[in-house]
Amino acid sequence: MSKYRERLNNILFRPWKELKSLQNRILHRFITRHLYPFSPHYRKLFDENKIDPRRIKTVDDLRAIPFSSKDSFFDAQSEDLAKGTLAFCLQPSEEALKKYLPKTELIKFLCLNTLRGKDCVRNRLEKEYKPIFLTATAGTTNKPISFLYTNYDIDNLYIYGKRILEIIGINKERAAVNVFPYAPHLAFWQTVFSGIAANVFILSTGGGKTLGTEGNIRSILKVKPEFLIGVPSYVYHLLKMARAENLDMNFLNRVVLGAGRVPAGFKSKICDLLNEMGASDVRIMGTYGFTEARCAWSECPTAIDISSGYHTYPDKEVFEVIDPDTGEVKGEGEDGELVYTCIDGRGSCVIRYRTGDFVKGGITYSPCPHCGRTVPRISSDISRTSNIKNLQLSKIKGTLVNINDLECLLDNKKEIDEWQIEIVKKDNDPYEVDELILYICPFGDVNREEFAHRLNDNVLSATEVTFNKIIFVSADEIRKRIEIESAVKAKKIVDKRPAA
Ligand SMILES: [Zn+2]
Repeated sequence: MSKYRERLNNILFRPWKELKSLQNRILHRFITRHLYPFSPHYRKLFDENKIDPRRIKTVDDLRAIPFSSKDSFFDAQSEDLAKGTLAFCLQPSEEALKKYLPKTELIKFLCLNTLRGKDCVRNRLEKEYKPIFLTATAGTTNKPISFLYTNYDIDNLYIYGKRILEIIGINKERAAVNVFPYAPHLAFWQTVFSGIAANVFILSTGGGKTLGTEGNIRSILKVKPEFLIGVPSYVYHLLKMARAENLDMNFLNRVVLGAGRVPAGFKSKICDLLNEMGASDVRIMGTYGFTEARCAWSECPTAIDISSGYHTYPDKEVFEVIDPDTGEVKGEGEDGELVYTCIDGRGSCVIRYRTGDFVKGGITYSPCPHCGRTVPRISSDISRTSNIKNLQLSKIKGTLVNINDLECLLDNKKEIDEWQIEIVKKDNDPYEVDELILYICPFGDVNREEFAHRLNDNVLSATEVTFNKIIFVSADEIRKRIEIESAVKAKKIVDKRPAA
């Protein structure tokens, strides 16, 4: 297919006006035909708030619907433990079908029933609505939540996967190695499905815990991938180990990082390592995704110090940015909390879902200046509000510290190789103030005293806190501290405060 034809056929390149009206049509259909009839939670929510689903015709109409959040799941679970998660899962009962399906659809079902029998109808419904797969939240900040997928959602996972690989510009003749930890987490499986959907060879090693870092390095040397895909901290560790062995990795010049904000300084550290191992023209792309969306979005390849933002899929979801305090919907490019609405899913579906993720720079609706896609793009400067910890640094009051900003600042420093923050109580006394201890493994020759002083100044101006102690440790010790080889997620922040 010619490049022009390919673009014409690719929905992500259609004029935004066209995409927007498509999005409204899909949204209306989803709410009236699937969500309201078959979702126990949302039917109840609509009824309680006297919302007529037929009146939700455009994205602007969504404002009539109250927000959902992680708490909605816990509330549903406490109401009925067995059915908690299922309250969000679309369940087409016979009664709901008869009551809510439009007449034309119902007649189709009745004909099918008469002509081909009950089993045929049941099979068709099962294919679309029966959950067959799940991914869950990692549960590092909260109790884990499971999200269910039906065959329909697996098809969507393929669609997202194919789109992501196109956006990051994978060369189908080349291969990729996926070092996301093997677990029922979205990142690992989204990557696996991407390769299958796009007909690209991807070796999924399962990460450090399954093969060990040495095993991962050997796999990379064997496969010679163009792309390496994984969690930022682990990819960095892996490449450092390879660099220490003086390996040649000139074939590897694309890195895709998931699950975490990726500051430019961190991207350039990875770029330096690859350059030292013979690679040139290195591109590093961040991705954004969360369990509740059962989907991920990617940056497109740009220079290391520029981010295109995450390319979204307007035929599959709606993103809004709101003021986290008032709930007011913000305009294009404005900061606020990301709110997600599924408009084309089965299984567990959420609408107007407060992600708890705060985005600086909001959403942009103009075409991407790097790849020309016309889809809304989310700024890549996202921090998770769940990472905001209440620290009692003085006896007077607690301070809310955005740990994510702190992480970003440390990752960005070229003098720091690895780090870990420990939150403790002074003298290990639960009634005492909190203390922040930073462990650093520095890069090369650093004037430790001067650097520690300068770092604390930077930290103070960025986050209004300082470290009570900055301790310099060896590469070996920091590796043991963050458990990079054995933990599913590197332990970069350890909260050791005893319960009062
Ligand atoms: Zn782009």
